[in-house]
Amino acid sequence: MTQPVNVTVTGAAGQIGYALLFRIASGQLLGPDTPVKLRLLEIPQGVKAAEGTAMELDDCAFDLLAGIDIFDDPTAGFEGANVALLVGARPRGPGMERGDLLEANGGIFGPQGKALNAGAADDIRVLVVGNPANTNALIAQANAPDIPAERFTAMTRLDHNRALSQLAAKTGAAVSDIRNLTIWGNHSATQYPDIFHAQIGGRPATEVVDDQAWLEDTFIPTVAKRGAAIIEARGASSAASAANAAIDHVHDWVNGTPAGSWTSAAIPSDGSYGVPEGLISSFPVTSAGGAWEIVQGLDVNEFSRARIDASVAELTEERDAVKGLGLI
Ligand code: NDP
Repeated sequence: MTQPVNVTVTGAAGQIGYALLFRIASGQLLGPDTPVKLRLLEIPQGVKAAEGTAMELDDCAFDLLAGIDIFDDPTAGFEGANVALLVGARPRGPGMERGDLLEANGGIFGPQGKALNAGAADDIRVLVVGNPANTNALIAQANAPDIPAERFTAMTRLDHNRALSQLAAKTGAAVSDIRNLTIWGNHSATQYPDIFHAQIGGRPATEVVDDQAWLEDTFIPTVAKRGAAIIEARGASSAASAANAAIDHVHDWVNGTPAGSWTSAAIPSDGSYGVPEGLISSFPVTSAGGAWEIVQGLDVNEFSRARIDASVAELTEERDAVKGLGLI
């Protein structure tokens, strides 16, 4: 049998964790031929609930699940990890300023970066889901100098999937007929879902839609504010769709993206499209051979430029803030 892949999930007892773990164990993260060992990392108060989730995972009798271990210590939790899904984060509390939030998360993602650096496997791949995801990824990366920088990524795939679904609903097309949408920038309200290079059934999306008012006043804000709309409707934040997007991100990173189409992921910038080098920003990306690559050579019109710049400015501010706090 193939050697199991070690997958560490932080915040494993949370609601995204609950939606994520069963899908990983069933083979949807890495494929139907790859056994996995789950390493659940929680804060001490979360350990008991994680034990309950582990009991349920046992009760599914998954063929591919080669073991489950539970930790409250990051160094132990990331030992030998091949994939790390950093889901647990400190939510913004009442009266909390952005600086407080960044500092609280620095206290989580700094030590986790150090622990990854100390003990993760050489092929470690990290996806940060916990918000503010892009900047949390930057903090973890800065604390893991021995791990190649490009192994730290943040999730904008949920935004990408939301944009696909909105565009499909508007045009009556099947999701599978839509290609090459892009989410640019930060996983926040400033993100920019870009349809200018998208194709629907082989035709330019802007020709199929041809409705600038819908693009500006409906599509972009609906995608950016979808999380709030789900909280309003469900009384709880989105969890299954966030877990689904995390599965999509890692699956494509490891197995590659289909020929002729791209997806979106927040990865360290190499300076492409005027995004300052080193910022972990969302780009149009393809994956091959287990590595993401930024799609090059796209024309960026004025409308897009202004929105990309605004989101990147927010990322730059967040980076400067965590630098000022001594977190990176
Ligand atoms: P969730 O599982 O719902 O969310 C976890 C994180 O994912 C939050 O930061 C949340 O951000 C973020 N997130 C990113 N995208 C989305 C999305 N589309 N929808 C919803 N959330 C999204 O949180 P719970 O409170 O249920 O669980 C968190 C768990 O993490 C707890 O069990 C806690 O004990 C644990 N934890 C573990 C840590 C560790 O392992 N060291 C550290 C801190 C917490 P946002 O808040 O912006 O919604």
